[in-house]
Amino acid sequence: MTETVEVPRALVQVAQRAHRVVVLTGAGMSAESGLATFRDPENGLWQRFSPQHLASAEGWEDDPELVWAWYLWRFERAHDVRPNAGHVAIAQWGERVDLSVVTQNVDNLHERAGTSGVVHLHGSISAFRCSACAQPSAETPDLPAAPVQRLAPPRCARCDGLIRPGVVWFGETLPEQAWADAVARVSEADLVLVVGTSGIVYPAAGLPAIARSEGAAVVEINPVPTDISDLADLTWRETAARALPTLVDAVHGGGSP
Ligand code: NAD
Ligand code: ZN
Repeated sequence: MTETVEVPRALVQVAQRAHRVVVLTGAGMSAESGLATFRDPENGLWQRFSPQHLASAEGWEDDPELVWAWYLWRFERAHDVRPNAGHVAIAQWGERVDLSVVTQNVDNLHERAGTSGVVHLHGSISAFRCSACAQPSAETPDLPAAPVQRLAPPRCARCDGLIRPGVVWFGETLPEQAWADAVARVSEADLVLVVGTSGIVYPAAGLPAIARSEGAAVVEINPVPTDISDLADLTWRETAARALPTLVDAVHGGGSP
């Protein structure tokens, strides 16, 4: 049995009027699929280590074997889980309006729910490349039978450098094309929905302000207040998997297109 979720009326109105929608997502978007955000308490093998350090260029320099094992574990987790009702609702909405997804997530749950052309600001957990010569690695790395805390990263076939995850670490620059696409899309949007991001990791966290300054309505969906809340035109304190299906249903009446 599901509890009724009430969509703010003002949000339904703004969404019905919007021709171009951008959904900007963060780790909270995938939380109900079972992927932890970086601010959830970590359990298991990596409890003693901060995700912010493991996901940083310094973390890799300090201990590539620890970082590699953590990413393989996250890679496996990301493939084991499924898109949630929020990802599915976004994909369905995209069949009815001009909608783009710009995500900080490195999982591929939006794609698996049916959204195409997702802009990945922070790369992908399923892409690997050489840390020395940047050559993409075509092979999917071997996964240990059970999670281990340390594992030697494989070596590049071209230069023998260490293979690393194809994600953007704290302290690294975003891929230029993805950033340019994100800025272009929020600048052209009438409505930018910000879902499941704490709004503290820049430059991604600057996108809602760019959207506002270019005339879009900014709406936040997050169970708790964030650094984005003050600039949002409207905030809805709900979770992604509860809010988005209800919103899309309210906007499009739940009927056929
Ligand atoms: P964050 O961890 O800083 O913030 C997550 C936000 O999601 C919080 O504001 C929290 O209140 C909210 N939230 C939690 N559960 C939610 C739910 N069910 N519905 C809606 N919102 C919910 O994450 P961030 O802002 O994305 O930034 C941190 C960095 O973490 C990013 O660089 C991102 O690449 C990385 N990250 C990605 C994944 C992933 O790919 N799934 C997972 C963890 C971290
Ligand atoms: Zn190499």
